Amino acid sequence: RLEGVEMAPPDPILGVSEAFKRDTSGDKLNLGVGAYRTEELQPFVLNVVRKAEERMLAANENKEYLPIEGLAAFRKATVELLLGADSPAIKEGRIACLQSLSGTGSLRIGAAFIAKFMPGAAAYISRPTWGNHKNIFADAGVEWKEYSYFDPETIGLDFGGMVADLQAAPEGSVVVLHGCAHNPTGVDPTPEQWEQIADVCVAKKLLPFFDVAYQGFATGSLDADAFAPRYFAQRGIEFAVAQSYSKNLGLYAERVGAISFVLSDKEAADRVLSQLKRIARAVYSNPPIHGARIVSEVVGSEEMFAEWKGEMEEMSGRIKAVRQVLFDELNKLEPNKDWSFILKQVGMFSFTGLSPAQCDHMTNKWHVYMTKDGRLSLAGLNKAKCKYLADAPSSNSHT
Ligand code: PMP
Repeated sequence: RLEGVEMAPPDPILGVSEAFKRDTSGDKLNLGVGAYRTEELQPFVLNVVRKAEERMLAANENKEYLPIEGLAAFRKATVELLLGADSPAIKEGRIACLQSLSGTGSLRIGAAFIAKFMPGAAAYISRPTWGNHKNIFADAGVEWKEYSYFDPETIGLDFGGMVADLQAAPEGSVVVLHGCAHNPTGVDPTPEQWEQIADVCVAKKLLPFFDVAYQGFATGSLDADAFAPRYFAQRGIEFAVAQSYSKNLGLYAERVGAISFVLSDKEAADRVLSQLKRIARAVYSNPPIHGARIVSEVVGSEEMFAEWKGEMEEMSGRIKAVRQVLFDELNKLEPNKDWSFILKQVGMFSFTGLSPAQCDHMTNKWHVYMTKDGRLSLAGLNKAKCKYLADAPSSNSHT
């Protein structure tokens, strides 16, 4: 009966890691997946995570099921991390927060909620965006459409195009916004531009849906990177937000994150949470506890939180240092070209403008693994390898 099942194509991002593993070259570089590596290109477990795990082991905690909505201390820490502990929305109980399976699972539960309670609403996603957004919304039965975002001429934000596209969206649509460190472009709106985006959302009754997967990686500061959702909350705009601890706490495989709806009153938040729980119950019943406890330990203790901030700055600082060295190497090689985009882009990635054929060449000839959209994960690069990367011929053009 299953003869008709066709082979699915490899995933555009995780498929790159699979190909990387098969490559036996000593030069190989995995700049595909956005996963932080040390300067020695080794995976990194944060000290605060190790400490939290030691405390957890000593406390000899059990493995009973969590409630469907997740660990209470985790949910409190997570909304506070996003909006600040003094947020009126938190104090007034106006947030429906459900612990979910990292950023992806949180987006997926949010998408299922939209499919169910906003029937017919399309989700507007940026062009380009993270490869999985389209899958997630399509899989939940939500039609996705694109809004302009990136201008290849300026290698910056096409703000006029973005606003025009959002203005043309039907009232009641959903607009997916990268909270900070836009993936893959590394180009974020300025605070003034966020104000205008908020204006359009209000005027057109759009539901902003923030995807916050890189809090801490744009500026190095967890607080500064939460500017956009904090600003929307301060304006009293209702929105959804998916948060992930994969990158900023390095908890990739623990699948720890949350989907929240910031609403106008507590009664609405209670109703929305009850429906989010209903969706989660049918999909995975209740979330995993280990990563949630780590987050509660780290964010719940002043001393650990301060240490985390330091480690966060260290990670984002290392990526910035790599940006600088890559920029210097390219400048040495081709001083007449304007390479400043490499320094201007923020977050884990560099959006190079390489064509799919050039990306293939980088992989096939130079063992540099990257996604076909021309995105390089600088989190997987070190200073020593910047020259090798810059020398790889087809990387020397931004078109
Ligand atoms: N959103 C964006 C924009 C991302 O880049 C990622 C991770 N690559 C995610 C969400 C979710 O990742 P995770 O499911 O590991 O939290």
